[in-house]
Amino acid sequence: QTRRTPFIAGNWKMNLDHLQAVAFVQKLHWTLKDAGHETDTVEVGLFPPFTDLRTVQTLVDADKIPFALGAQDVSAHDSGPYTGEISGAFLAKLECRYVIIGHSERRQYHGETDEIVASKVAAALRHGLVPVICVGETAEDLETHGASAVPVAQLEKALAGLASGSEVVVAYEPVWAIGSGQAATADQAQEVCAKLRAVVGDALGADAAARTRVLYGGSVKSGNIARFMREPDVDGALVGGASLVVDEFAAIIRYQK
Ligand code: PEP
Repeated sequence: QTRRTPFIAGNWKMNLDHLQAVAFVQKLHWTLKDAGHETDTVEVGLFPPFTDLRTVQTLVDADKIPFALGAQDVSAHDSGPYTGEISGAFLAKLECRYVIIGHSERRQYHGETDEIVASKVAAALRHGLVPVICVGETAEDLETHGASAVPVAQLEKALAGLASGSEVVVAYEPVWAIGSGQAATADQAQEVCAKLRAVVGDALGADAAARTRVLYGGSVKSGNIARFMREPDVDGALVGGASLVVDEFAAIIRYQK
């Protein structure tokens, strides 16, 4: 089996301004250092609001802090008359490596369809960013179609037409588990993540499927992360609420299987 570096990603959503971000990132870095955390065992990704990115990038660069940086969204367009949009080119210039695309909050509150998600995934790749593609079923979907049908269909549409071997990260985030305190079970996560990996295989090829990190997200905490990480097809977590509390996020990063 291909070794995949586990990826723990913190989605700050609309929390922490750029000054709070500096204090947070420094504290997280020192908490991990004090605990003797080995930085190459797990990749840590931070996804702050756009307005924090420049500040956080300067800080991690100057202090050689080993966190990867990502944005929470990107425009489908490269430049031009799109007021309020942020180009992938700008994110790449800020040394962002990742961008979250299709988070359920964007699908739900900002009308992002599968077509929009697919065009944003293509835009991210055009600019050398790795899209973190979020898929997941609502409680209603779960009842009518079971757990995997909706996320599988969402991922198929997000990957359609991409070059084989394209680098992506997939995040399985059941909508009912996000911010609810009710995480999926490890078995549920494994079952859907394995199916999503198969979708990556069909769309991007067997090598890409073996290399691609598939994350679980939805009420991940220090108390349940290890359970997910023991599953063969779960390669990390996309963490919302718990990524805003330094000690809790550090404990998630330091999970022990
Ligand atoms: C998220 O919104 O991506 C998420 C997983 O949130 P939480 O961890 O708070 O459930």
